[in-house]
Amino acid sequence: MSEKVAECRRVVVKIGSSLVVDSATGSVKASWLSSLVDDIADLRAGGADVIVVSSGAIALGRGVLGLPGGALKLEESQAAAAVGQIALARAWSEFLGLRGLTAAQVLLTLGDTEERRRYLNARSTIQTLIGKGAVPVINENDTVATSEIRYGDNDRLAARVATMASADLLILLSDVDGLYTAPPALDPEATLIPVVEAITPEIEAMAGAAGSELSRGGMRTKVEAGRIATEAGTAMVIASGRREHPIGAIDATGKATWFRALDNPAAARKTWIAGRLETRGALTIDDGAARALMSGKSLLPAGVVAVEGLFDRGDAVRILDRSGRELGRGLIAYDSGDAVRIAGKNSRAIEGILGYRGRTAMVHRDDLALQAGARPVGRRSSVC
Ligand code: GLU
Repeated sequence: MSEKVAECRRVVVKIGSSLVVDSATGSVKASWLSSLVDDIADLRAGGADVIVVSSGAIALGRGVLGLPGGALKLEESQAAAAVGQIALARAWSEFLGLRGLTAAQVLLTLGDTEERRRYLNARSTIQTLIGKGAVPVINENDTVATSEIRYGDNDRLAARVATMASADLLILLSDVDGLYTAPPALDPEATLIPVVEAITPEIEAMAGAAGSELSRGGMRTKVEAGRIATEAGTAMVIASGRREHPIGAIDATGKATWFRALDNPAAARKTWIAGRLETRGALTIDDGAARALMSGKSLLPAGVVAVEGLFDRGDAVRILDRSGRELGRGLIAYDSGDAVRIAGKNSRAIEGILGYRGRTAMVHRDDLALQAGARPVGRRSSVC
């Protein structure tokens, strides 16, 4: 596999708070940011489109407001982000501007990626900005995000942005240089994994939880980001940002963890369903139904053995096999009350039970996105 950032045509770069903000002074690390922007300008000069997802608003704003170190209350981080986002956007605009590049601030909320219409709207804004040669600089709109309705970490946000923009590659720059077989701080034998072919339960177990002082996302959210990205056909690389010219360093040193993208990603709409973070419930299905889904069929009420959660028609639900393994996600055709009443029943009985003629399928196959482990897939042999 040739793993070269320089070969990619559209790249999303996610930058963690601890890289861009000096924890001692609470201000932007100017010389580091300047070196990163050199790398971005190099990618652009090579013909690639670049989208930035930058954290750092809360870290920049907290000191200004005199907020204490450690975890903040939700309203404190909302206030800190309101102050810090101005400084963050100014820094990006200034440094990109010095290389003749135009920065465009885009602040997204979870709803902007979870609701189909808003997702398409955000996508077209980003496409327009790229088409005009600007560099979108994206962050979560932390000031209005509530605890239930937020990403909270920019790893998964960046993965959603990467799939939304049909990027070839998502680069996660943080204070770790990749995925290790065990937490390196605890285990001296731990080794860096250079390529993750597929996100297996073993890989998930290795991810553990490695957070740092300033950032919320640990390795777990990075592997989750990897799943969102790779299933949509976007490769991902985790690399250290604790050096100058961190993007150039990936190709120069080769020290990073690459996640291979699927060769046959699901269609765009299914990608959006698969990457949805908010699910309202879960359906456990029997083995016959699981086999039917894997051969491309819809999920009928007859195959559903348990219904969990409170949801409305059209909400996303997780679909589990009898052992609790997630097979995929889908948009359900019934609300939870009706789903419970028709679970296990033949579709012909629906009208008699509910008093109206509902859909034959509980989850139609067009509304169903199976995980890579539950459908035949191939992996790309090269990154871009
Ligand atoms: N959106 C947060 C900020 O800008 C960062 C979230 C994260 O650490 O991933 O401060």
